Amino acid sequence: MGYLIEEVESGSLAESAGLKAGFSVLALNGKAEFDILDYLDASGSKLVSIQAEDNGRVFEVTLENDFSAPVGIVFGSPTVDQVRACSNNCQFCFIAQLPKGLREGLYFKDDDYRLSFIQGNYVTLTNASSPDLRRIIDLGLSPVNVSVHCIDPQIRSLLMGNKNAGLIASQIDELASAGIMLNIQLVLCHGINDGEILHSTLDWMLGRIDSIESLSCVPVRLGQPTGDLGMGARFSAAGAMAVIEAINKYRALAKEKNSRGVFCASDEFYIIAGEDFPQDSYYEAYSQYENGVGMARSFIDDFEFCLENLAAPMPQAYAHVATGAFGASFMPDLFSKLWKASSNKVKFETVCVQNDFFGNDVGASGLMCLDDILKATRAARNINELVIPSNTLNADGFFLDGPSFGDALSIFCRMGIRLWRASNAEELFKIARKISG
Ligand code: SF4
Repeated sequence: MGYLIEEVESGSLAESAGLKAGFSVLALNGKAEFDILDYLDASGSKLVSIQAEDNGRVFEVTLENDFSAPVGIVFGSPTVDQVRACSNNCQFCFIAQLPKGLREGLYFKDDDYRLSFIQGNYVTLTNASSPDLRRIIDLGLSPVNVSVHCIDPQIRSLLMGNKNAGLIASQIDELASAGIMLNIQLVLCHGINDGEILHSTLDWMLGRIDSIESLSCVPVRLGQPTGDLGMGARFSAAGAMAVIEAINKYRALAKEKNSRGVFCASDEFYIIAGEDFPQDSYYEAYSQYENGVGMARSFIDDFEFCLENLAAPMPQAYAHVATGAFGASFMPDLFSKLWKASSNKVKFETVCVQNDFFGNDVGASGLMCLDDILKATRAARNINELVIPSNTLNADGFFLDGPSFGDALSIFCRMGIRLWRASNAEELFKIARKISG
């Protein structure tokens, strides 16, 4: 048994002690059952004792830690032991709506407080026991990222299909009173937890504002409307505006209390409402950038910075940029500015990718699949150079629908198209120079 070692870092203490990928760790500092938090804790001590096993040979090593090198064991699971699965049945669950036939890992619904700490995942705490909360407090795991949705116990339980969901207020209070900070996400379902319910949730949060690092509201993303509880209702421009106004009201109150605005609406709400994105200062530390809160403002500001700082005259370049409906709503204006600033030399055009894979109200570029990018490219015609956003690929370079970036390069090459990827405005400008070269 034990926990499989996937990799041993080069130059690490584990490598010096002879540990190798494929070995198992049977015990850490005498504990046969341990997890990533125990491992991180042990990595901070001067002596780390490890019982390991290699093909039936059991042996012990003691690492003398002078902190000049990492302990350096990478386990097969991010939590070392099994990742805790979600026990909810949310009416809006995105994973439950995934089409069949994708990579197996995509269907796993994790809800593990340890992943909040090590990877920044949002957790619901519905499967967190009292000892789990105690452990978060004792280890000072702060901040914790929590998907709250609403504070009303009945509505939260109904939304999440889990009666434990109603405990959230006391869980937050227990963590907050022990000094743990929180990043909070409210996924809003129009007609369910917006309106008065949203106001009461924000009001409750205002009372704990010193313990909240950030709070964002994002609209529910539905591939296929379920119809249950009215989940299929999309936010209208007026509905989105009402959310923005509610947040602005509580931002002002939060600022009076602790000089930070804390509450933010996601980019999507601004796009649906047809409003300009707030200025940079609205997003404070951009704590919820990965949730689509401030991504547009950050891209616009970076793009304009690049425009103002063109070090050398731009060469002639013409390329298409694939993006979802959200990016397509603001990028053309930026590309017109680039066209003018480059004296009509650099022309970027957006290719708006309709998301057939997840449903066409999904406009985020990070959820585009290769199949939809290909469809949009074929429909657009006359594309020679195509840039895709890097966030369509996971850390291993795979699209959500399975192919790798290498597969995509070959497919587009056969179509006579050179494929590029860019993760920000600066990379887009670099690509423009490379295209011409
Ligand atoms: S918490 Fe809800 S939305 Fe998230 S994975 Fe679980 S069921 Fe799905």
